[in-house]
Amino acid sequence: MIVLGIESTAHTFGVGIFDENRGIVGESRKNYIPNKGGILPREVAQFFSEVAGNAIKEAISKANISIDDLDGIGVALGPGMGPQLRVGASVARALSVKYNKPLIPVNHGIAHLEIARYLTKMRDPVILYVSGGNSIVTTYVDGRYRVFGETLDIALGNLLDTFAREVNLGPPYIVNGNHVVDLCAEKGKFMKGFPYIVKGQDVSYSGLLTHAIRLKKQGYNLNDICYTLREIAFSSISEVTERCVAHTNKKEIILTGGVAANKLLNEKLTKMALKQGASYMPVPFKYSGDNGVMIALTALYELKYGIKIDPEKAYINQRWRIDEVDIPWYYLTI
Ligand code: AMP
Ligand code: MG
Repeated sequence: MIVLGIESTAHTFGVGIFDENRGIVGESRKNYIPNKGGILPREVAQFFSEVAGNAIKEAISKANISIDDLDGIGVALGPGMGPQLRVGASVARALSVKYNKPLIPVNHGIAHLEIARYLTKMRDPVILYVSGGNSIVTTYVDGRYRVFGETLDIALGNLLDTFAREVNLGPPYIVNGNHVVDLCAEKGKFMKGFPYIVKGQDVSYSGLLTHAIRLKKQGYNLNDICYTLREIAFSSISEVTERCVAHTNKKEIILTGGVAANKLLNEKLTKMALKQGASYMPVPFKYSGDNGVMIALTALYELKYGIKIDPEKAYINQRWRIDEVDIPWYYLTI
């Protein structure tokens, strides 16, 4: 089976092609990078509609196949931002109808989890999924990924990006693979008095963000603020992940999502895993951020279990949670 996947939930229009026999065979990514400020959904959607055609052509030509060779079209229908999701959904629906291929609905979060399991070969892990829009500690129990803990307000990536924007460190937020908050933190030291918020199994970051911005306005050293902000943000989410490992007694831990590229977070999780007697791996950097390959892989798993959707009913769902999705393919190995 060969499946094409389309990703368009936030800032990346991605197309990936996954072949059951050959693995990852082709992909293309078009990233929207704002000149200043945050992401304006309508502008990104406009950009996505301009690049979609070429992205699809590029991925197909890299895979050295023709559209007729495909067994299905997968598309991320959520969670994400409405205008961008609608572009991916329209493109996928059109391809499905024109070429008479099954349309497969993919949850973007599940796709981050599946690409991480596939590439790390860790089959039954506790997964920390941290990106621009999500911060979730999850693991599979009885047919679904269960949310063990999550952010009560903003996501970890969003915390770092918003802080950077508010204090004029970015955009761009990533320089040579490092977040600008990390670069700024290099010369910093720990400050007292920041809110470290873990409620039950959940973390909260908005108080931390407000506190950090306030200190900057009051003239405190920005290096120290960055150092402390990331220290607290990473420690609290690592603490929740550790509790999940201790509770479930699972022996594998993986990190996925855009923030998986972060060195300090990786160090913290490596130490924690050692303490818990578990093995730890981040998803390889190339597939930590949003991409079409993870959508294609997940769609292929789904297609094997007959999961597809009528193009006329393929609505987007901006708030589609990972624990709403049945995972019948969990023990399947490809
Ligand atoms: P995603 O939404 O999965 O594509 O992830 C994008 C998020 O990952 C953004 O918030 C980025 O700032 C964040 N990100 C990317 N690289 C890094 C890094 N090295 N350290 C921390 N955050 C990062
Ligand atoms: Mg993502």
